[in-house]
Amino acid sequence: MTRRVYFDHSATTPVHPEVVEEMCRFLKDNFGNPTSLHYFGQKARKAVEEAREKVAAAIGANPAEIVFTSGGTEADNMAIHGVAYTNRNRGNHIITSAVEHHAVLNTVKALGKQGFTVTILPVDQYGMVSVEDVAAAITDKTILITIMHANNEVGTIMPIAEIGRLARERGILFHTDAVQSFGKIPVNVDELNVDLLTISGHKIYGPKGIGALYIRKGTRWRQTLFHGGAQERLRRAGTENTPGIIGLGKAAELAMANMEQEAAYLTRLRDRLIREVTEKISHVRLTGHPTKRLPNHASFCFEFIEGESMLLSLDLQGIAASSGSACTSGSLEPSHVLLAMGIPHEVAHGSIRITLGRDNTEEDIDYFLEVMPPIVERLRAMSPLDQETEFALSDRCNGCRVSHTCRV
Ligand SMILES: *Cc1c(COP(=O)(O)O)cnc(C)c1O
Repeated sequence: MTRRVYFDHSATTPVHPEVVEEMCRFLKDNFGNPTSLHYFGQKARKAVEEAREKVAAAIGANPAEIVFTSGGTEADNMAIHGVAYTNRNRGNHIITSAVEHHAVLNTVKALGKQGFTVTILPVDQYGMVSVEDVAAAITDKTILITIMHANNEVGTIMPIAEIGRLARERGILFHTDAVQSFGKIPVNVDELNVDLLTISGHKIYGPKGIGALYIRKGTRWRQTLFHGGAQERLRRAGTENTPGIIGLGKAAELAMANMEQEAAYLTRLRDRLIREVTEKISHVRLTGHPTKRLPNHASFCFEFIEGESMLLSLDLQGIAASSGSACTSGSLEPSHVLLAMGIPHEVAHGSIRITLGRDNTEEDIDYFLEVMPPIVERLRAMSPLDQETEFALSDRCNGCRVSHTCRV
């Protein structure tokens, strides 16, 4: 039997057994619609409000400031769109960064086509936004700054508290996508000085299709995307995803209880992985910040290799990782994050992301360190990438079913 090692926790996490248990119990005995006034409705309402309290407590918020959504993507869209349209009379300028998740970046870009002016800030070689750049970008028309807390591709943790302080001084609303940081490092809405904050269930050992948006009391924000019922205090129409909400509440509670211990454990595994990969293999660089990074996150660029080829070879050995280079998704471009960090195209194509989780062990790291060097050696031996040639990717990358020419 192939050994299976899951190293892709930034993409999604397995659901915690206690979350599964709680959700199953709920699905069996609590089917009511929380809007209904009868016994069944109120029983579901009670469970939803308990989950809301758990989520609020995990980020230092008031339960009334939590709106449940269908996930991180919806929460990002809702935050940005809602602030933009509610504050249109005050200005039309939005500031974000070049390394945001597409849920933020594409939402902001869409607003750019609807009469808003957008500034997309650059990042440094570590994927970090500078507070000075944010300050310099602010104009008297700026209504929103949205910068992620921790980057999903390279793990870099941004100076959110400082940016938040600046935004508050200038009277500008500040949103952060904390999908990757929540549950891994402390996320407190007051300490981070944020007005809006996004989290997602399936990145913290909860279910998929559920997330939450924190909206600070008094924030000039209103629902602008969905039209429908009065659920979530008129902030998110549609019958609540009650089992998902119960799962998110439990996952948030468990994440808080285990965070410190888990972060220390994962940091140890991560640091060993980074040290040994960069020692054992030549022409490899760590991407993202060396210290200001998520405890479970290691990401590299291997020169002269395609990320997809590495992923497929690893998968044959039972190791699940991911790559920032997105040929498998039909795109020719390597990751927008790596390119924004100034990593050349041909190097960015060789990116691999290893994101650890609570079930990973030292033995998993041993196994990776055993199988990776020969994979790199074999792929480099057959790689034309060091010759800077143009080649038909479909000829050699059997994982990529898109027929196109990949310019190196
Ligand atoms: C996964 C992710 C999202 C999207 O969350 P979904 O719940 O999958 O929609 C948004 N932002 C970041 C940083 C993410 O990692």
